[in-house]
Parts: sequence; structure tokens; C-alpha cells
Amino acid sequence: MHEWALAESILTAAVEAAEKEKLKKITEIKIGMGELQQIEQDIFEFALDEIIKSQKDKLKNVKIKIETIKSTLKCKNCENTWKFSDMKKKLDEDESEAIHFIPEVAFVHTRCPKCGSPDFEITSGRGVSITQIKGEK
Ligand SMILES: [Zn+2]
Repeated sequence: MHEWALAESILTAAVEAAEKEKLKKITEIKIGMGELQQIEQDIFEFALDEIIKSQKDKLKNVKIKIETIKSTLKCKNCENTWKFSDMKKKLDEDESEAIHFIPEVAFVHTRCPKCGSPDFEITSGRGVSITQIKGEK
């Protein structure tokens, strides 16, 4: 139930941020979701909905917007950067599915398209985070 825990921590963080900004009410939360993450978006959205329904005060009628953040990879050998989405096209379905659930799998199947090095890092589009909160004072 990773999705529920994540939904709860996102909402808790949003409420804390709103309190800091002295917002009476949160009207919108924007969430950036990296291409490389290990959660099911459907379950995550459902969890957010359910938790919001059980809340009053600040989170009442809040709108949730989820945007996908493209993942970028960077070669540690030649500093070449490339997009995960480009790489994905070259993978078969099983590999691509495996990477969705376990980003580390990307490291097994991928080489830098420029120099062929297997030594690279994910520089963006990993994990889930709040990108924006709107509210009323
Ligand atoms: Zn390289």
C-alpha cells in the first residue's frame, strides 16, 4: 500500500506548507510525477480522493493536478544526456514494464547512446513531489 502512504504524506506536506503560508484553505495542489517511479497512478489518485473526502478544513474541495515529469538520464563517462522516453522506444514491452516498477532495472538494460558506457544517473523525473500549491488567505 505504498500509494496510500505516499498520498498521505503528500497531503500532509501540503497542509504543512499551507500553514506556513497562513493559507486558510488550499484550492489546488499540483503534483509532479516522474516517469521513473514505483507507484500505480490510478491507486494513488484514488487514495488522494479518499483521504481528501475524509478531511475538512484546509483540504475541502481541493483540486489535484498531476503532471508527468519527463525523466532525463546523464552519462557519467561522457556527460551526454538523453530522455528516458527515447530510450523506452528501443526496449521491448517486458523490459519497459520492469523499468516502470523498478527504476533500477534501467541500469541493467541501458547503455549511453553516445559512448556505450553503462555508467549513468537519473537527473530528473524520479519520484513524486508537490510542484505547486494554491490557496486562499
Ligand atoms: Zn556516454
